Amino acid sequence: MAYQLTDSIQILPGIGPARAKRLEKLGILSLRDLLFWFPRNYEDRRELFSIAEAPEDRSVCVRAMVATPPRATHIRKGLELVKVSVVDDRETMEITFFNQAYVRTALTPGMVCIFFGSVQRKGRRYTMTNPVFEPEEGQRFTQCIMPVYPLTAGISNNLLAGALRRVLEDCTDQLEEPLPREILRRHQLAQVGYAVRTVHFPPSWEELEVAKRRLVFEELFLLSLGLSMLKGSGLRRQGIACASHPLKNYTDTLPFTLTDAQLRTIGEAFDDMTSGRAMNRLVQGDVGSGKTVVGAACAWLMAKNGCQSALMAPTEILAEQHWKTLSPLLERSGQTVALLTGSTRAKERRELLARLEAGEIDLLIGTHALLTQNVVFRRLGLVITDEQHRFGVGQRSALVGKHQQGEQPHVLVMSATPIPRTLALIVYGDLDVSVIDQRPPGRQEVQTLLIGEDKRQRMYGFIRKQVEEGHQVYLVCPAVEESEGMALLPGGELKNVTDYARELRESVFPDLKIGLLHGKLKPKEKEAAMAAFARGETQLLVATTVIEVGVDVPNATLIVIENAERFGLSQLHQLRGRVGRGSSQSYCVLVSSARGQEARQRLRALCATNDGFQIAEEDLKLRGPGDFFGSRQHGLPPLKVADLAGDTRVLYEAKQAAQSLLEEDPQLSLPGHRQIRSRVEQLFEANRDTFN
Ligand code: ADP
Ligand code: MG
Repeated sequence: MAYQLTDSIQILPGIGPARAKRLEKLGILSLRDLLFWFPRNYEDRRELFSIAEAPEDRSVCVRAMVATPPRATHIRKGLELVKVSVVDDRETMEITFFNQAYVRTALTPGMVCIFFGSVQRKGRRYTMTNPVFEPEEGQRFTQCIMPVYPLTAGISNNLLAGALRRVLEDCTDQLEEPLPREILRRHQLAQVGYAVRTVHFPPSWEELEVAKRRLVFEELFLLSLGLSMLKGSGLRRQGIACASHPLKNYTDTLPFTLTDAQLRTIGEAFDDMTSGRAMNRLVQGDVGSGKTVVGAACAWLMAKNGCQSALMAPTEILAEQHWKTLSPLLERSGQTVALLTGSTRAKERRELLARLEAGEIDLLIGTHALLTQNVVFRRLGLVITDEQHRFGVGQRSALVGKHQQGEQPHVLVMSATPIPRTLALIVYGDLDVSVIDQRPPGRQEVQTLLIGEDKRQRMYGFIRKQVEEGHQVYLVCPAVEESEGMALLPGGELKNVTDYARELRESVFPDLKIGLLHGKLKPKEKEAAMAAFARGETQLLVATTVIEVGVDVPNATLIVIENAERFGLSQLHQLRGRVGRGSSQSYCVLVSSARGQEARQRLRALCATNDGFQIAEEDLKLRGPGDFFGSRQHGLPPLKVADLAGDTRVLYEAKQAAQSLLEEDPQLSLPGHRQIRSRVEQLFEANRDTFN
C-alpha cells in the first residue's frame, strides 16, 4: 500500500502516540508536514575506504566485518566503554563506543557493517571512536549525503531520516506543482517532487543546489505575491500635488546645518510630493543619522500646502520625544504640533480630536493609537512612520487608508536599516528608497568592548568615571523580573532590571541617582523615569530594551549591555545607538560570559563595525532570516528555506516573477493560478489579523 500525503505520521512503524505528540510540537502531523520538514544541514558520508587507506583528517565510511563479540567495561559511574574489533581484507581496527550500551547486542561477530567515523592510526594499530554504523545489508544512513534535521527532545535524527526515506518516493509523486509551467520554464526551476526528494537525500551537492534554488524561489515568490497583494493595491495612485516652497525657509529655523545626505533625501521626498503621484518612500539611515528632521521637513511642506501630517512612532516614549523636539521646530514656522497616545486623557483627547477634524493641527504625533477609528483628519496629506520595522505591514496600510475625499496621502517610512539590503527588497518591495549615509558632523564612532564577568569591577569603575565627568550611563538587561530570567535560562543567571537596579543602588553606587525603566511600568512611571534621565536628574538608567528605539539623550556616553548574547546583533546595534549622540567619545560595553563560538563571533562582529548595514548582513548570515521575517518584528510569515544571504539573485528573480504574474492576473483568480492563491493564503494565515 502506498503512503498518502494526508496520512497521519502514526502510520509509520516506530511512531506511536508518544512520538507523534513530540513531532506535533514541531508542527509535523501528516506525512505532508514531514515532507516539508527540511534539513538544516548535511553531512557528507559518501566516501568509502578500506581501513588501511582511510584518511585521518575527516570522517569517512569503512566497510568491515565484526570479528569479536563486543566487550563492555564499566569504568566508573556514568562511564561505560564497549570495545569491538573489526576486520577487512587487510587490517584490523579497534572500535570504542562510550556509553552506548545498545552496541553490546547490536553487533555480533560475522556481521558486515559500514562504520562512519574518523580512523586514527598509530603504527599499524587502527582505531575509531563512536562511529555511526549500520549493517551493509539495507544500508540507509551511510554512503550518502546525510540530512541533519532540526530536532526536539525524544526525536532523533535517524528517526526522521528513516521516516523520510520510507515515504519519500510515494509521497513526492503526489505533490501538486504549485508553480505555473511557464514560470518553471522561464526561471529554469526543478519540479516540486524532485526538489523535495533531493533536498532530503541529495545524490550530490550540485543537485542539492538545484533543489534548494527551486524551494527558495517558490517561498520568496509566494511571499512577494502575498506582500504585493496586501500592500500593493493602489499605492501608486495619485497623491496631493504640493506646490514647492523654498527649503531655506525651513532650514533657517533649525539649530544646525543639514548634512548633504539629509538635503538630498529631503530633495527626493519633495520631488515626490510635488509630482502629483503619491509618495511611497523609505528613508534608511543608521541610528543617529538624523532622520527626524527629514520627516519634519516633509510635514512642513505639507502644512505649507494646507494639509495635515501624521507621525507614528512605535513607543509612547519615542512619540513623546518626537513631539518635544518637533513642536518648537515647526512652531517657529507658525505650525501646530500635537501629541496623541494611549495615555492622553479623555477630555484632552476630545478637544484634540475636534481640533484635528477642524484642521487646526498640522502635525499629529502618536503611537498606533493614531489608528483608532475616531481619529479623523480634515485633510491628511502625509503619513510618516518612524522605525518602521516595529510595525506590521498591515498597520502602515491602515493609516494610509485614513484619507478623506479619495485622496492618497504620501507615505514616508523612516527606518534605522536593521534590514539587510537583500531582504529590504522584499519587505519594502514597493517603496522608493533614500539612504542617509552620512552622520551629522562632530560625531565620534562609538567604541565597543566585549568583556566577561571577571572585568565587572573594572566596568563599574568605568561607569563611575563617566559619571564624574558629568555624563550619564544606560545599563540594559534582558529581563524585567527574576521569574523571567529563570524561564529564559536554567539557573536564572540572567540579569533582571529589578534586582540589578536594587543591587546597584544598595551596594555598588549608593551615592548615585539611579532610574529604572521597563515595559511593565505604568505609562506615567515610564515617562517619569525617561524624563528624569533626559533632564540629567538620574545619572544611571537601568532599563530593558524599551529604550532600544530612538530615545535621544546626548549626554549619555556609555551603555552597558548585560547578557549581551541574548540579543540579536541588529538589536544590539540599535541599543548602541542610544549613545554617541553628543560630541563626547562614547562607549558600549557588552557583558557576556557565553563561551559558544557562534555567540562570541556575533559579539565580536559588533565590536568591529559601526555600520548598521554590515551588521544586519552579518546577523542574517549567522542567524538566518528568521529574525528579520519573524512575525513579531515585521508581521511577515516566517520562512522555511533559510539561508537567503547567498540568494540575492533568486530573490530578484522571484520578485520579478511575482510582479509579472500579478500584472497578468492581479487577484490570482484565473483557474491556473488557484493553487498559488491558496498557497499564498496559507502562508499568511498566521498573520491574517495583522493584514486585515
Ligand atoms: P535618527 O536617525 O536616529 O532618528 P535623530 O533624528 O534622532 O536620528 O537625530 C539624532 C540627533 O542628531 C538629534 O539630536 C538631532 O537633533 C541631531 N541632528 C540631526 N541632524 C543634524 C545635523 N545635520 N547636524 C547636527 N545635529 C543633527
Ligand atoms: Mg529616530
